[in-house]
Amino acid sequence: MSDQPINDQEMRCPRLGSPISFRYCMISGADDDICWKVLDCWWETFDVEAYLKANMPEAVFKQLMETADKPKNKISSIIEIAEKVKKSK
Ligand code: SF4
Repeated sequence: MSDQPINDQEMRCPRLGSPISFRYCMISGADDDICWKVLDCWWETFDVEAYLKANMPEAVFKQLMETADKPKNKISSIIEIAEKVKKSK
C-alpha cells in the first residue's frame, strides 16, 4: 500500500473506464452511498474490508457485505454510474 492517504489513492474504475480516487467510490453508489463494487475493486490495493469495517456504522457495513454478495447486472451498474456522473457535472 502506498503512503498516500486512502481517500486519495486512485485506480482505473472498471465501470467508468477512467482513473478515480477511493473518495469517489465512497459516494458513487445509489443515493450518494458507497459503490457496491468497492470490495471487489480495492482488495488488492489495501485491506478495504477492514478499513470499511473500522470506518462505517456497523449496520451500513453489514448491508454492504450483503450487497457485495449479490452483484448487479452490468446494465444496472452502467445506468447507476452514468446518473452519478451526470449529477456531478
Ligand atoms: S468501487 Fe465502484 S466507483 Fe470505485 S472503482 Fe470500483 S466500480 Fe468504480
